[in-house]
Amino acid sequence: MPETYAPLNPPRRLLMGPGPSPVEPRVYQAMTKPIVGHLDPYFFEVTGDVRSLLQEVFGTANEFTLAISGTGTSGMETAVSNFVESGSKVCVFANGYFCDRISEMVRRQGAEVARLEKPWGETFVDEEARKFILDEKPQVVAFVHAETSTGAVQEGKAICEAAHEVGALVIADTVTSLGNIPVNVDAAGIDIAYSCSQKGLACPPGLAPVTVSPRAVEWLRRRGTMNRSFYLDLKLLDEYLLSAHKYHHTAPISMFYALREALVIVHEEGLENRFRRIERNHKAFAAGIEAMGLRMHVEEGRRLYPLNTPCVPEGVDDAKVRARMLNEDGIEILGGFGPLAGKVWRIGIMGAGSTKENVLLLLESFQRALEAEGYRPAGNGRQAAEAFYAQA
Ligand SMILES: *Cc1c(COP(=O)(O)O)cnc(C)c1O
Repeated sequence: MPETYAPLNPPRRLLMGPGPSPVEPRVYQAMTKPIVGHLDPYFFEVTGDVRSLLQEVFGTANEFTLAISGTGTSGMETAVSNFVESGSKVCVFANGYFCDRISEMVRRQGAEVARLEKPWGETFVDEEARKFILDEKPQVVAFVHAETSTGAVQEGKAICEAAHEVGALVIADTVTSLGNIPVNVDAAGIDIAYSCSQKGLACPPGLAPVTVSPRAVEWLRRRGTMNRSFYLDLKLLDEYLLSAHKYHHTAPISMFYALREALVIVHEEGLENRFRRIERNHKAFAAGIEAMGLRMHVEEGRRLYPLNTPCVPEGVDDAKVRARMLNEDGIEILGGFGPLAGKVWRIGIMGAGSTKENVLLLLESFQRALEAEGYRPAGNGRQAAEAFYAQA
């Protein structure tokens, strides 16, 4: 063990991967404020603000809207452990990594999983989604709205309509959509949606926003068995964070300050402005990618604007390109995994990181790294993006 330790001095990275995304300076500031106790009236003022601000980004009037103390995965496990009972059947739309994670959690609850499969990067059309649900007649249906492993968006309206016809509840993973693209929980008919703090909301990782429809709250009230998880039991979390303010766990106070500040920033920008900004920067980036002679993995019209998956060209080692960008320019992007390992990069242009300046920096660095690895681009990516901004 060393005698002394150097002061903490993390490298400055431009976070352009699938998350975490760059943190707003005001959010860092909020985290330095003195903490209060986890039962202090001031803390419940903060959680009250977090609730109403989350209702706005989720697009919901759900009273049961809160943040779980944990990352996005704890939001997923909250949804599954509270609404999937042992012996029930869950339909999962399987077209990427996070659907597999949901399936695994469902099995761990002792429930049956029925999966409709598609290759990673594709999505389900209304009729096939509907037929699957009507044939299977499950108790719960789960889909991933924004699949971060592939860069595709799965619309939920038809899934929710079919699920409600057979009396099933719908769980939606909105981890990469919340704060990046419209989620519209109420308009889509989603019963349980969960997310995270570190992707679209420009906050560090550590909290998982969750919202629950009145229909799902009613189901939970009548549930005959107990949630096997104490920590993620929504009945207990309701008594702590929303109703009686009774001790359940010591909430991470500084993270709640951070999330409140991040959500206030979203509110001040305005959702429509934010979504337009993220779409525009995606389009500028895609113009740059195409100008370089590269291809996007996901078809236009189904692309997840905040998470881009350009294909790795023949003969290029994706890891070497990433390492160059990190070492030479301090820019983080990630590679694909599972069936897309070595085939795509995953480039996040999300939350506060979605700016014209970052898109141009990113394209420049990406092109330099590609050229150093032997790729001959058709044209200049940065210039194509600049041309896009000039005419858009
Ligand atoms: C990131 C992510 C998760 C997991 O969130 P963590 O914060 O890493 O626990 C779940 N689902 C999707 C779609 C994600 O992108």
